[in-house]
Amino acid sequence: MSVKTKIQWCDSTVNPTMGCEGCEIWGPQRKTCYAGTLHVRFGGATPGYSPSFDVVTQFPGRMREAASWPDLRGKARAEKPWLNGLPRIIFVSDMSDSLSATVPFEYLRDEIIANVRTEPGQRHQWLWLSKRPDRMAKFSRWLGLQGISWPPNLWAGTSLTAQATTSRIKSLVQVGDERTIHFLSVEPQVEPIDLLPWLPRIDWVIHGGESGRGARPFDLSWARSLISQCATLGVPYFLKQLGSNVVESGEKLFFKDNHAGDWEEWPEAVQARQIAKIYKAVNHLA
Ligand code: SF4
Repeated sequence: MSVKTKIQWCDSTVNPTMGCEGCEIWGPQRKTCYAGTLHVRFGGATPGYSPSFDVVTQFPGRMREAASWPDLRGKARAEKPWLNGLPRIIFVSDMSDSLSATVPFEYLRDEIIANVRTEPGQRHQWLWLSKRPDRMAKFSRWLGLQGISWPPNLWAGTSLTAQATTSRIKSLVQVGDERTIHFLSVEPQVEPIDLLPWLPRIDWVIHGGESGRGARPFDLSWARSLISQCATLGVPYFLKQLGSNVVESGEKLFFKDNHAGDWEEWPEAVQARQIAKIYKAVNHLA
């Protein structure tokens, strides 16, 4: 967990679990998940990590600590001006997938939901990202059976990398209720993706290319395409980084920042960093 993070679209990160059961970017064929890479380097010996990445480990108390972090409402962020004035934006689970099958719903309820709903927790916006939105939707229904509603300041998100993974969105939009903000992290995108059929039900799109050694190409036209798709449906769009292997019309592009995360280096047409409309329910009622 970290009260300050370099991740461009949030202020802070918190990990109620560490480790993961894997996905299309962490398996026998490919190992590029940065959480997995950090666990290979530090896991086991370093306090706060899982003994190994594939052993999903619970860390109760972290959400409570994150809830106590200072309120950022109305505050400016020198390095992330697109967040100015907003509540603290906290990325839940950047070093894990806490919807992994071995994590009990009771733990997620007591650690995540309970702390998001506390008075200090309600000052922040919590963005929970998972590649297992089917389990997040089951969890949401399970809470409902106990009379517990999904907190409006807990956003539900899933990650996509290729067209086939857009099937995750069907589960994602079943999480929560009409107040819930549903968002996509299309990163690392590895092929053209058509989101248009889904965008009417989506509140925010984060986008980016792959980084690190062996990064697959990210075609700048993909950024133009998603910007256009989101603009067509009026969905806020945030380009996080172009990644370490950027191409345009078959030519490789070079940037000073090795992740191409400095938007001042990008062509003006893709300099887009919008944030979702917070307080969706309030907006709907207005
Ligand atoms: S689901 Fe997330 S945390 Fe797990 S391996 Fe994939 S990218 Fe990493």
